[in-house]
Amino acid sequence: MNPLCQRAHSSCGACCGLYNRDGHGEAEIRARLDARTDALAGVPRTRDAFREAARRLSATEPAPLFPSVRVCPLLGWLDPARTRVGCLAHPATTGGPDLRDEGVYDASICETFLCPSHSWLTEAEADEIDVVCADAHLYGLVVTDVPFVRAVLEAVGRLAGEKPGRTHLDRPEVRSALRRLFALKEELEPGSEGLFGAFRPGQDGEPVPRSIDYAALDRDASPWDAILLCVGADPRSGNDLDRLEGEVRERLEGAARALRG
Ligand code: SF4
Ligand code: SF4
Repeated sequence: MNPLCQRAHSSCGACCGLYNRDGHGEAEIRARLDARTDALAGVPRTRDAFREAARRLSATEPAPLFPSVRVCPLLGWLDPARTRVGCLAHPATTGGPDLRDEGVYDASICETFLCPSHSWLTEAEADEIDVVCADAHLYGLVVTDVPFVRAVLEAVGRLAGEKPGRTHLDRPEVRSALRRLFALKEELEPGSEGLFGAFRPGQDGEPVPRSIDYAALDRDASPWDAILLCVGADPRSGNDLDRLEGEVRERLEGAARALRG
């Protein structure tokens, strides 16, 4: 499989802490990447200078949402048009020196780490996510949540009688309808556990599966439970279950209509 981090149309910085600041709306995240990219542009490509710049940048940013997940201030924009997120300390970006030791991990961890999606997603699934998201924000939220992607594609397939495949994505209306579904990830309440999939961090830092307590809400389980669970549609996550269920249903029906043509 090609690395998921930099795809043809999309890029991801989730494991470098892209979404883990208080204030994780898209505009705030983009502003933070702008500030880091601008600040680092004039910094000499030396370890001392990058260490000091990283320290100063971190001091200006809000607290992490999850303190156990590190946030690296050396993550910024790779291209002049600011469409592609990536490491500003990587030799390919600095033009020579490897300055990743001055981030929140060390260069060997940065070089070798691959998130679990690399082994869970098929190349075809990765390609579909890339083509549908085609950006540097939604993509990272989606590509790191394999159960969410599969639940969405399976539910659309159930309604349409045919699961969306790569050839369907040549049609803009199908891409756009699937994007609306994936974009549920961008519309969750601040701090919602759904930002991080169907798991929450356990006491030892390991992921613990969540579930929606329908009995406590005095209602039956939703037919879209797998999707709702991944987006954190649980009142304890700060999201309104009925509202989100309505959104899921409406967007699924829209995607099924687009797929059927
Ligand atoms: S979270 Fe996964 S896909 Fe995203 S940058 Fe990290 S390793 Fe790459
Ligand atoms: S130094 Fe490592 S953690 Fe920081 S942005 Fe680069 S790859 Fe990510």
